[in-house]
Amino acid sequence: MVTTEQIKEFGIVGAGGAGFPTYVKLGSEAEIFIVNAAECEPLLHKDKELLRLRSEVFFKGLLTCLELTRSRRCIIGLKAKYADLVAHLEESNPAPDRIEIMGLRDFYPVGDEITLIYETTGRIVAPRALPITQGVVVNNVETIYNIGLELPLVSKFITVGGDVRQPISVEVPIGSSFRDVIALAGPNLKSADLAHMEEEFSVIVGGPMMGKLATSLDEPVTKTTGGLLVFAKDHPLIRRFETAGDGKKVMRIGKSACDQCSLCTELCPRHLLGHPIEPHKAMRSLMFSSIEEACGTSLAPQAHTMACAECNLCSLISCPEGLYPTQVSVAAKKQAMAAKASFGEPIHDQAHPMIDYRRTPVKKIMARLALDHFQNKGELQGAQLHPDHLTIRTSQHIGAPAAPVVSVGDEVAQYQKIASVGDKLGAEIHSPVNGRVTAVSEREIVIAPFA
Ligand code: SF4
Ligand code: SF4
Repeated sequence: MVTTEQIKEFGIVGAGGAGFPTYVKLGSEAEIFIVNAAECEPLLHKDKELLRLRSEVFFKGLLTCLELTRSRRCIIGLKAKYADLVAHLEESNPAPDRIEIMGLRDFYPVGDEITLIYETTGRIVAPRALPITQGVVVNNVETIYNIGLELPLVSKFITVGGDVRQPISVEVPIGSSFRDVIALAGPNLKSADLAHMEEEFSVIVGGPMMGKLATSLDEPVTKTTGGLLVFAKDHPLIRRFETAGDGKKVMRIGKSACDQCSLCTELCPRHLLGHPIEPHKAMRSLMFSSIEEACGTSLAPQAHTMACAECNLCSLISCPEGLYPTQVSVAAKKQAMAAKASFGEPIHDQAHPMIDYRRTPVKKIMARLALDHFQNKGELQGAQLHPDHLTIRTSQHIGAPAAPVVSVGDEVAQYQKIASVGDKLGAEIHSPVNGRVTAVSEREIVIAPFA
């Protein structure tokens, strides 16, 4: 069994979120350890594939996590609709008296950490508090699998889906380009020229709800890349993402078209947990501000927006006018945080009495975002990618960037450390291949693999 010190040395970070260093989470004693296997964003499947095909390594990592956090109880939260997978995990469960597989309902965002804790334990974590305040530690499937491998972290599992011939999940070396990874699934291009893929397609990195538009297909895979979803440039979801990125437009149409119906608040998953977030109030504030104020720094700080989980549900699904309450709330949240605002009102510790009736089914999301004609699957394929170079970012995690410890011309071996954070919070970085370093900067290290 590996120690927290080894997990730190291996550079393992949360594979499903912002890349929080895993050794820090596992340094807490927890009453309950929860495995986030919800994978609630449509079209993403790599976690389910890992559980299906690599459950032995996953359970090895899970037992390590339970020992390190001294958790007596463990819940694996997985959607009940995957009955075969639930049965497979029950059969291969090495400690059924301690590890429970719990079927979740099929709504978004059941994989949001705070929502998952409520669904599996009934406990409510206060806004901006850590799960450990409720005696809980949460980790996702791939992170636990990486602990079970007992090796430095050098590869990433990714689902490639959307407008492709065959949606797949694949394990690729960290530092591979998005373009090379997408090519494995065969994007439905009119021209056969992958070098010009971006003329026909846009790519969402992550899921269709919380992902981000890729700025370049030459960007590298990092320790937190989980999905590459390919869509034609005129797909409605791409149009929505593009407008969402235009701050002035978002504020202008919000100011003129919001009728204060408050549906965005009524369906907000964090509001339903009793957190103070009320996105319709963030929208209302636009009516009392100029666009310049709304886009700048003088919009009155609204503390309640600090409870926003940025799930994008209110913008992409809840608002009947197609407005952008998420983006307005996030802009106000940044200002509230910069102003060091604090919640001035009592925080409820009870969920809304209507919470069970106001969940947003994934089926509705598929239909509303015009995703239901894409294949919603992604079987795990064997490793197939041998790029001619890997671009490895020095910051792929929360905390300080790692400082390179190699120079141009150095020969490196697979798993050799190439950048280090020393004693700072962050993650060590290792070479995914045997190769030669061809470029080094503060931001990235480029390695040419040996043939
Ligand atoms: S749902 Fe849309 S229209 Fe209604 S209050 Fe929220 S932003 Fe305004
Ligand atoms: S993005 Fe919208 S729905 Fe999601 S937590 Fe924030 S305010 Fe609530």
